[in-house]
Amino acid sequence: MTCLKREVALPGRVGAGGLDHNAADEMRPRLPNAIPPEARNGARVKVANVPAEGVYLPNNNRLAPHMRSPDYVQMSTAAAITLGVMPGRMHRCGCTRCLNLLLTYPEGCRANCAYCGLARHREAERDYADRNFIRVDWPAVPLQQIIDKVGGDEAATPFHRMCISMITHPRSDADTVTVLKAWTDRIDPATVPVSILSNPTTMTAGDVRRLKDLGADIFTVALDAATPEIFDRTRGKGVSSPHSWAKYWEILTAARDIFGPQKFGAHIIVGMGETEHDVLHLVQELVDMGGHSHMFCFFPEKGSLMDHLPATPRDQWRRVQLARYLIDYAGVRVEQMRFDAASRVVHFGLPSGEIDAIIDKGIAFRTSGCPGKIQEDISACDRPYGDSPPSNIASYPFQPAAGDLRRIRHQLGREKPGESYRDGEELEVEEQG
Ligand code: SF4
Repeated sequence: MTCLKREVALPGRVGAGGLDHNAADEMRPRLPNAIPPEARNGARVKVANVPAEGVYLPNNNRLAPHMRSPDYVQMSTAAAITLGVMPGRMHRCGCTRCLNLLLTYPEGCRANCAYCGLARHREAERDYADRNFIRVDWPAVPLQQIIDKVGGDEAATPFHRMCISMITHPRSDADTVTVLKAWTDRIDPATVPVSILSNPTTMTAGDVRRLKDLGADIFTVALDAATPEIFDRTRGKGVSSPHSWAKYWEILTAARDIFGPQKFGAHIIVGMGETEHDVLHLVQELVDMGGHSHMFCFFPEKGSLMDHLPATPRDQWRRVQLARYLIDYAGVRVEQMRFDAASRVVHFGLPSGEIDAIIDKGIAFRTSGCPGKIQEDISACDRPYGDSPPSNIASYPFQPAAGDLRRIRHQLGREKPGESYRDGEELEVEEQG
């Protein structure tokens, strides 16, 4: 078993419509098909009522068993390999440092976000527990088994952080509390701090407070879209989904007030039609509030309503990734940066030599997310290959090596004097002498 998927949508050199970036007019989700009544609300799974037995690996059965949180949660393939509940290995990574737990129900997520493999419209074709999410399968595991494994030798755990990811479901708020409580009753949050990836649509400020009081360390909101228009088109009325920009900001603001500086953040996906200025303005706003941004590169998730669209061109992604790092960790402000007529970054707000030094450190291009135990700007949540194939990495789940940095500089158009890069050279294995 491996964390690598058969690739169906390799990132191209150009964006949607042959442009050099993913422009708003081109990044239109397709419309969902009608769902047959016999497939709605997890009906297939509930009617068959196959009992769950231990770990469930997606697509192993013709029918997913009847599994529900809080007894069951799903986890990323990388987390399952690291925890030792699934065999496998990860390309160029020993393990993941984040144990991402995703609530699970036969009815699945009741939202319909256009870029997401878990979205409601997929009821027509796949049981919830069999759906792919950020490019990988998510095995379902009994919560108690996870807690016993980590709690059995807390000091030796490879995990620097645990994250409870909520979905849009009537039970999600209560079950998040139950999972958090079960975890903190056994595992010291100082050893493995807990983040919450929230679902604002079903939450109040009181729910945010409760999670903080129960020991959650960081609270994040998956805005995903960088502007209200793109939010509405991809997660709101545009795709018959219940989310609203205003509600997401209400809960993000509550998180700022309740969790405090450096303890809240927002996820943003780059390349869904926003401009580079749009997304970096949002990054600055989050920093000014006292929070952080956690950034993904748009990838056309198989089966999603945006799977016909291209991944974000790498030059667009690298500029935003670098600029976001400068705003989040190097004290540069978006107002110091310069943008061209198409709102692309043309100057990063620091002298060229300083930018080159930051590029060469490589940290700016690692996966962003809540911090682990190494340093503030290195995320525990490395999510291997969640936003790209390993053959064309967007977010590096490891420290980029010399060949990776040559590729990054090439993508940014900032090669060193005399330097050249050949496509794929960092993947070549050197001959043993
Ligand atoms: S709310 Fe989250 S899990 Fe549900 S469809 Fe949207 S992005 Fe996917």
